[in-house]
Amino acid sequence: MSHHVPCNKCRYCLRGHHTACETLHTTNYYPGGFAQYVRVPKINVEQGVYELPDDMSFEEGTFIEPLACVIRGQRLAKLQKEDTLLIIGGGLAGNLHAQLAKAKGVRNIIVAGVNQYRLRLTKKFGAHRTIDARLNVLQELKKINGGRLADQVFICKGGVSAALTAMECVDKGGTILFFAVSDPTVRIPVPMTEFWRNEITLKTSYGAAPRDLEESLGVLAQKKLNVADMITHRFSIQQAAEGFRLMAKSGKSLKIIIEPNKD
Ligand SMILES: [Zn+2]
Repeated sequence: MSHHVPCNKCRYCLRGHHTACETLHTTNYYPGGFAQYVRVPKINVEQGVYELPDDMSFEEGTFIEPLACVIRGQRLAKLQKEDTLLIIGGGLAGNLHAQLAKAKGVRNIIVAGVNQYRLRLTKKFGAHRTIDARLNVLQELKKINGGRLADQVFICKGGVSAALTAMECVDKGGTILFFAVSDPTVRIPVPMTEFWRNEITLKTSYGAAPRDLEESLGVLAQKKLNVADMITHRFSIQQAAEGFRLMAKSGKSLKIIIEPNKD
């Protein structure tokens, strides 16, 4: 069941921006998802229920929403097979983007990240090449991409430096997708004149709409992606804080699952 659902009636929903809908921004489970039982509002039951296929596990099901966000992002960015795609951030979002792009036939997928454990996994999950983001990402990109920059740069990591790196690494005519953003108080300087002269697109994507969730369910049902192997840890509700600590320091983890009925 989807935690956010749109009204499907407002101006934004009717124009395809379901994730900008005020109803979507305000619907949620109560008091939250980390419980054995949760109260689900009527509108979520009416508009946000998706049937899990018999051969899909609950663990695979946990990927429906994150993958749906990735599907939406790639559609809005208009990712093409012939693009050089640079993904900044080798966490779960970055890895899902790489895996989906590979499944779509994108031929040049590069992931930049600082966590070496995750970068190794990234190769398994779709990246053709990786860049150690502790180095100069722009120089490393040129080195491995025949001197060229990237047609598409997906920011899958918060923080100003990821956004600044993306703006350096986008090629003329290219697109930067803000899939993750910084703290709301942060302002990011954009070299607007340079972007104007070179027709750079700055694109954002937020969350997932029903269409994205349905598509995601279809992709997972067809077993097109290997999501099960992205799970590195499983915790009980009692251990949830430990799970969050592990995720915050990233370390040797990628996808952490909290199992509400686990002892
Ligand atoms: Zn709406």
